[in-house]
Amino acid sequence: MSSVTLEGVEKSFGAVTVLKAIDLEIADGEFLVLLGPSGCGKSTTMRMIAGLETISRGTMLMGGRDVTNTHPRERNVAMVFQNYALYPHMTVADNIGYPLRVAKVEKAERRRQVEAAAARVDLEPYLKRYPRDLSGGQRQRVALARALVRDPEVFLLDEPLSNLDAKLRVAMRAEIKHLHRTLGVTMIYVTHDQIEAMTLADRVVLLSGGEIQQVGTPDDIYDDPENLFVAGFIGSPP
Ligand code: ADP
Ligand code: MG
Repeated sequence: MSSVTLEGVEKSFGAVTVLKAIDLEIADGEFLVLLGPSGCGKSTTMRMIAGLETISRGTMLMGGRDVTNTHPRERNVAMVFQNYALYPHMTVADNIGYPLRVAKVEKAERRRQVEAAAARVDLEPYLKRYPRDLSGGQRQRVALARALVRDPEVFLLDEPLSNLDAKLRVAMRAEIKHLHRTLGVTMIYVTHDQIEAMTLADRVVLLSGGEIQQVGTPDDIYDDPENLFVAGFIGSPP
């Protein structure tokens, strides 16, 4: 069963088309990386999958269901952004539990689910702290736990590590990969960093100028670039 399917999806802002005829089938449980230079349309694609942006043309399916015009709440997706946007006045537990509070989950159940999500990313000792007391990596884990707590089928991660230093970024990559394996969910991950894409992806989608240049495993893309753009992008230093 495919998890997310885009059929001829286009996005225009006014007269400007920023995504052109995107056809993509993402398998259930796949780790798919959207890779490409700044401005190529990665975030717009993610926002359309999340339902935060309308689709100008084409169709989107999730688990076989047409979600083209549905509200974000009708999609079982959770998104983690580059700026993790934690609520500074709330404890870690309240930050993680926020989506459950919005969904009116009862307090004891909420606590149970928050603890379970925190345990997945080793945050149990920090539940009573505030974001300002945490390191960058810990804050990013809070953002992951807040996404996890909704038990989404599809995780959308838009450059989640780009604010972290190089060493932490490598460690967090491994954590995200581990999370993917243990949860068995579909992850769609955006980066402009080819090394990050190659280490994480089952398949890479290389975008440029709003168009897919190549879709393939990291090996496919390294060994058989389909055009000069791909060869140049992959060959260039990070
Ligand atoms: P990426 O995430 O790959 O850097 P984006 O998806 O953010 O790229 O942007 C793709 C293109 O769409 C860019 O040219 C950007 O300026 C344009 N764009 C994005 N959002 C809007 C918007 N709300 N209004 C107009 N143009 C936009
Ligand atoms: Mg972006």
